[in-house]
Amino acid sequence: MKPAPFDYYAPESLADAIALLAKFDDEGVEAKILAGGQSLMPMLSLRVARPEVLVDLRKLAELHYIRDEGDTIAIGSMTSKRAAEESALIRERQPLFHDATMNIGHLPIRAHGTVGGSFAHADPAAEYPAAAIALDMQMKAVGPDGARVIGARDFFVTYLTTDLAATEVLTEVRMPVLAPGTGWSFREISRRKGDFALAGAAVLLSLAGGRISDSRVVVFAVNATAVRLPAAEQVLRGQAPGEALFREAGLAGAAEIEEPIADVHASADFRRHLVSVVVARGLAEAQSRARG
Ligand SMILES: Cc1cc2nc3c(=O)[nH]c(=O)nc-3n(C[C@H](O)[C@H](O)[C@H](O)COP(=O)(O)OP(=O)(O)OC[C@H]3O[C@@H](n4cnc5c(N)ncnc54)[C@H](O)[C@@H]3O)c2cc1C
Repeated sequence: MKPAPFDYYAPESLADAIALLAKFDDEGVEAKILAGGQSLMPMLSLRVARPEVLVDLRKLAELHYIRDEGDTIAIGSMTSKRAAEESALIRERQPLFHDATMNIGHLPIRAHGTVGGSFAHADPAAEYPAAAIALDMQMKAVGPDGARVIGARDFFVTYLTTDLAATEVLTEVRMPVLAPGTGWSFREISRRKGDFALAGAAVLLSLAGGRISDSRVVVFAVNATAVRLPAAEQVLRGQAPGEALFREAGLAGAAEIEEPIADVHASADFRRHLVSVVVARGLAEAQSRARG
């Protein structure tokens, strides 16, 4: 099928893009931002989305960057996932985000799709929202009333829905560098390499005196948004790490998930089981990388 007709604009600056979005909003015209098009174009072609106007951000060179800001890494929203994948800064200083990137689709998808597009699209099975919640990332949005910063916990609202207003552009995502001594893991289970995950986990683990001093366990592809699993973290707190403990944490995490997604790919029970497995494996991997 072909997309329904739409008008196309390719502004040369962020200010112009926001002015266009504000103008169409005032006029009651539905306008959508186009970034890499890897999610939006299929939705247009299937006519799941039928905006009257597309505002393409491709010419906005000001949103293409990866910056070292000391203990923070800032990424412009129009940076490709491929650029994030190739960044030595990200690979060395925030390897969880690097590993999340490597799990996204296939190389052509990562070459065309943008970092910001994945956050704004908010697919429940996408890797970046889980990384964002695990890392307490911050998202910067700019609209007609200026800029605001939204924490990951408030940014992802539900299935394909974020806190962004129709007149706002996500301009930047910010993440802390990995704390010294902290182990990480980003893993997923999918039918084939490159497919969307059936279940996945982003895990951080810190050790002190041979015991687990802190942990972060986030899973994705099982609810409308990626979710943190406090029950799993509670099992780990203050304990000596080991396979039996990680299995117990995986089971506790799986048990606390309310109504896992059930679809043609996996039943709710199977997804719950996958969560217990992927969390336990992720914890073991994070432990092997933690120094403490
Ligand atoms: C075959 C295939 C496999 C894929 N596999 C995966 C996968 O395994 N994991 C995964 O996470 N993704 C996967 N994707 C999706 C891919 O990662 C997309 O690139 C991503 O979801 C959207 O990024 P984009 O730049 O293409 O955004 P677009 O498709 O252009 O836009 C997506 C949505 O975000 C909005 N948007 C985009 N940028 C902004 C912005 N800066 N500010 C405000 N709103 C904005 C758009 O209006 C639109 O609603 C796959 C896609 C395909 C086609």
